[in-house]
Amino acid sequence: MLEIHSPVGKVSVAMGETCILEGINLRKWFPVRGQGACLKALDGVSLRVEKGQTLGIVGESGCGKSTLGRVLTRVHEPTGGTLLFHGRDVTSLRGRDLIPFRDRVKMIFQDPYDVLDPRMNVREIIEEPLLIRRVYPSRQGRTQRVLETMERVGLSEDYLDRYPHEFSGGQRQRIGIARSIVLNPELIICDEPVSALDVSIQAKIINLLKELQNSLNLSYIFISHDLGVVKHISTHVMVMYLGRVVEAAPKEDLFASPAHPYTRALLSAIPDFKDRTKQGAPLTGEIPSPINPPPGCRFHTRCPQAQGICTEQDPPARPLGNGGFCACHFC
Ligand code: SF4
Repeated sequence: MLEIHSPVGKVSVAMGETCILEGINLRKWFPVRGQGACLKALDGVSLRVEKGQTLGIVGESGCGKSTLGRVLTRVHEPTGGTLLFHGRDVTSLRGRDLIPFRDRVKMIFQDPYDVLDPRMNVREIIEEPLLIRRVYPSRQGRTQRVLETMERVGLSEDYLDRYPHEFSGGQRQRIGIARSIVLNPELIICDEPVSALDVSIQAKIINLLKELQNSLNLSYIFISHDLGVVKHISTHVMVMYLGRVVEAAPKEDLFASPAHPYTRALLSAIPDFKDRTKQGAPLTGEIPSPINPPPGCRFHTRCPQAQGICTEQDPPARPLGNGGFCACHFC
């Protein structure tokens, strides 16, 4: 059972029972220097990731989805809320206590070049987590593990001694993925992993992630601004707007019957979205500042269906009957 917390109460939604990661009412506020205010990047987000699921998280730039990824991996400390890993509270763990969590939950980034040390060759990049965690004491064992992992992600062993600058974007992403899976994680948070790649390469990386999910029994959180990509890989989808979740549902339901006006507007941006009757008007205007979000429904300044109540009252999260929910007064 999933409890969705919103500022106006909470609802319980039936979900699977093999929960890996659960966030409850997570907040991440960044103080704005000199203004005495906070940028509310994440403002009361709850979610639950089940074993074998791929939870897609979508929304425009600035909706808080990347901040959520960093809070879920404890790269960012949450300002408030609770993070549970297999039911254990990991919200405040520090130092060595956090290592088992960090071994099991990994992250893949948009541009692996940002996280691959240019002074390290492929062998060193993939081997480093094994050395830090002392998983394979012998060099021979580590080399074997590195080669196995490279084969899994489609990298030739001829690349062992090459450096990141010698590779294409797609190959660099494969190196980043190899480093993420070498310790056998359980959950990988993919933050816009294909946004910087050509469309043909995007498909190959998505297919690789799917293959790895099947062969390694992985679960994913897949963060993207691109609903088309999310549709391809996800089993469930969560839509974020201005630091909050506005709709969550199994993928088929969300694309067949989008409930929230913001979801419908996002769908209108998918070129091959077939059912035009389900899409909303395209989005206009800018996303408001998360330093001073609009009162009532945060989407009311851009919503074509906004009414008086929307400017005054925060809409509650209402169950949709498919295990998901929608935060709109008129869902
Ligand atoms: Fe639009 Fe009102 Fe629903 Fe918000 S609560 S999405 S403004 S109709």
